[in-house]
Amino acid sequence: MIKIASPIISEEEIEAVKEVLKSGMLAQGPKVKEFEEKIAEYIGVKYAVATSSGTTALHTALLAVGIKPGDEVITTPFTFVATANSILYCGARPVFVDVDEKTFNIDPTKIEEKITDKTKAILPVHLYGHPADVKSLTEICEDNDLILVEDAAQALGAEFDGKKVGSFGDCAIFSFYPTKNITTGEGGMVVTNDEKIAEKCRKIRSHGEYQRYFVDSLGYNYRMTDIAAAIGLAQFNKLEILNAKRIENAKFLIEQLKNIEEVETPFIAENVKHVFHQFTIKTKKRDELKEFLEKREIQTAVYYPLPIHKQKFYQQLGYKDSLPVAEKLSKEVLSLPVHPSLTKRDLDLIVNSIKEFFTQK
Ligand SMILES: *Cc1c(COP(=O)(O)O)cnc(C)c1O
Repeated sequence: MIKIASPIISEEEIEAVKEVLKSGMLAQGPKVKEFEEKIAEYIGVKYAVATSSGTTALHTALLAVGIKPGDEVITTPFTFVATANSILYCGARPVFVDVDEKTFNIDPTKIEEKITDKTKAILPVHLYGHPADVKSLTEICEDNDLILVEDAAQALGAEFDGKKVGSFGDCAIFSFYPTKNITTGEGGMVVTNDEKIAEKCRKIRSHGEYQRYFVDSLGYNYRMTDIAAAIGLAQFNKLEILNAKRIENAKFLIEQLKNIEEVETPFIAENVKHVFHQFTIKTKKRDELKEFLEKREIQTAVYYPLPIHKQKFYQQLGYKDSLPVAEKLSKEVLSLPVHPSLTKRDLDLIVNSIKEFFTQK
């Protein structure tokens, strides 16, 4: 079976975990600090605050920039539900703006009509590893006095105009879930250039403590363990190689699939580095193709089969939006394996099977 995701865990990760276990310092400690420093330097920001997951990083980031009950936060409906849920955790209301058909990311031209006097922030997602249009988003935020928080969970290493995503917003978050470009098991990170935001994140992460056992605000236990950070450090050493492999695999797939009329291969904007967390094609025969590939032992996935505003829970909350692009995409997208563990044989099998599917019809 060719899997849709396959984290690469080798001796380095195992040795790193053993070292932490033997040290007796299992919870947040020196490994977390080192991992934070590595990520901050890599993204090109001053501060990084590690958390227990991408979701807790989102909650922490939104609280730290001051999102409160009654606020509205503009975001995309075409993402993992954690993005919108984190807005609800703050008691605020997600306001969904439709996406761009080519990049799958929030469409900046449709944002301004959704801004009200309750709007506090914009929370874009760099979906599948392709940067959102952060230039337009930054301008909209400046013009309307809004905060920009990037959900870069899928985009560690992606660049816009030669600059790493995660460095454009007031703050940004990453996830280290096992399917992401590097993993810590579960884990997340908030990054920022703003010392006050970083300080708030550290407090929110640990029960509002400004000093051990002295508390001045409400916080949570959102800490990352040193066990997880040790895995993250070993993974971080391979990040550039792993991303390069994803990009190489994606280039091969695009080249091989681009002439199939019924398949639309991923778009890559000129000024970006796409890190291919997912390789997502569009086709009207999505469900049939998925089933066909499954029989060939090729696992594929639909990210995402239902936009957030159409989810039962969000319907119960009263969302009645019509967001036609996201709704159409959810019926046509199919993510193919692109991860770094794929062999040349795997890639050939994927390509040949897709070609066969479309010629037999
Ligand atoms: C994975 C993901 C998250 C949440 O990260 P977890 O580590 O799974 O909590 C948030 N947003 C997006 C876009 C993601 O892909």
